Amino acid sequence: MIHSIYSNKDAFLRELVSNASDALDKLRLEAYRDKDLSVDTDDLHIDLVVDKQARTLTVRDNGIGMTRDDVVRLIGTIAKSGTAEFLRQAREAQDAAGAQDLIGQFGVGFYASFMVADKVTLLTRYAGEAEGTRWESSGEGTYTIEPVADAPQGTSVVLHLKAADAEEQMPDYTEAWKLREVVKRYSDFITHPIRMEVDKPGAGEDEPKTEVQTLNSMKALWARPASEVGEEEYAEFYRHIANDWAEPLKTVQMSAEGTFEYQALLFIPSHAPLDLFMRDANRGIQLYVKRVFIMDDCESLIPEYLRFVKGVVDAADLSLNVSRETLQQDRQIQLIRRRLVKKVLATVKELRGQDAEKYKTFWSEFGKAVKEGLVQDADNRDAILEICSFDSTLDPEQQTSLRGYVERMKDGQQHIYYMTGDNRAVIENSPHLEAFRAKGYEVLVLTDPIDEMWVDAVPEFDGKKFQSIAKGQVDLDEAKDEQKQEQFKDFLGWMSEALKDTVKEVRLSSRLTTSPACVVGDADDLAPNLEKMYRAMGH
Ligand code: ADP
Ligand code: MG
Repeated sequence: MIHSIYSNKDAFLRELVSNASDALDKLRLEAYRDKDLSVDTDDLHIDLVVDKQARTLTVRDNGIGMTRDDVVRLIGTIAKSGTAEFLRQAREAQDAAGAQDLIGQFGVGFYASFMVADKVTLLTRYAGEAEGTRWESSGEGTYTIEPVADAPQGTSVVLHLKAADAEEQMPDYTEAWKLREVVKRYSDFITHPIRMEVDKPGAGEDEPKTEVQTLNSMKALWARPASEVGEEEYAEFYRHIANDWAEPLKTVQMSAEGTFEYQALLFIPSHAPLDLFMRDANRGIQLYVKRVFIMDDCESLIPEYLRFVKGVVDAADLSLNVSRETLQQDRQIQLIRRRLVKKVLATVKELRGQDAEKYKTFWSEFGKAVKEGLVQDADNRDAILEICSFDSTLDPEQQTSLRGYVERMKDGQQHIYYMTGDNRAVIENSPHLEAFRAKGYEVLVLTDPIDEMWVDAVPEFDGKKFQSIAKGQVDLDEAKDEQKQEQFKDFLGWMSEALKDTVKEVRLSSRLTTSPACVVGDADDLAPNLEKMYRAMGH
């Protein structure tokens, strides 16, 4: 259910609350701009009113309201392209179930009401006008509209609810607990209070039997300046959205104003989820549009190699109707994604400098996933390399950064040398290492399967090429010993002939010091591990 929010009937309430919240925002702004407008903005709020007998649910706001023209233009006709598209397809859909699915796929704003109601009555009065408007429809293309003399300020939408039916997945929206749950889930961070009158259990004889409750916390944590929010508040929020008991390793707060306005609150967890390396595992960024929850696991916002990052992005100018498909093409989302990636990488780099222990935790939990980025994300390759750590021959107890490696490079050393293999012991015992040891050159010891991939994809770090010590001619001595070549010519010829079925070529090597011979791959051959992998796959 979490993943298909639009096929969820609960979404109607989110749409109506969202419209009400917009109307309250507009009224506040309008009253601010037009001092002559005589409206009451002291108690802007949203009411949910239930009538169990009549089976109605009313969503009421004291916001800006609509003129008669507005109602005709915005509600009465299907001016909005998303809604028009929806209705076109709904008409083509054979049966009611088909139409129901369609409503599910589009977020159709106000018309989502008809997922749960067979009749909707809207009563509204535009701020500053005397007369109001009543509109009523059963959602089948026709409506009635009439003037009303004494409408209260704002808008109320009365839903004549369909019968609750577990089979039809029609919940009972006259139940206070259900409404509270839906509001908590989708609209908790709406900045206006969402109120409801509820029974007061255990009320005394002469006490009122009901009380008015505010259902939402009204706190958009991500919109508040980081300096105002305590670590513990962030941690609570993290636990809530990540379903984790632990504290986050690092909290990242971002915001941008101007053309693309958004806020983001991201968390790097302190441990990897069990499904980090499972296909189809969820990626954890939630998308909000102006405080309104749009979707969980918005994969368009974060690349696969940072799939462990949790958090919320709240974009100001997106439509609530966005679908996962349209999001992928959305320029604003792409821009936000680029910024999130850069910010996360920069944060880890900073962490490395400031808190070695935390960085170590980060790398041991997520390093394998991050290295996938070296293959997937060429644009950020340098930033990713900066946060990587590798085993090396320098110290078996400690990993090194590439920076550290480069700083320790010997005079005359051109490349960053590495060797890939199943485990450290295999690499340590390899004859390929001998000459490098003898010269005091450090060699990176790469034992993760992903290492085979990125070493081919990444050309260099800090102007130094990555060079496998097990591949091709690794020239440690620049001067070629022609005399030796001549001296061993016959021997090499004989040996090449004798081994012609198993090796391509036999040549003199300067890389061995104690072993008499070793087998090397061609510069463009597959690494032995990859070769093994492909063979196992039947290539
Ligand atoms: P959207 O919110 O994406 O524009 P909707 O179908 O939800 O689409 O609403 C259409 C329009 O109707 C809104 O843009 C708004 O102008 C108007 N509207 C809907 N509900 C209200 C309301 N409670 N108060 C004032 N205007 C409203
Ligand atoms: Mg809307």
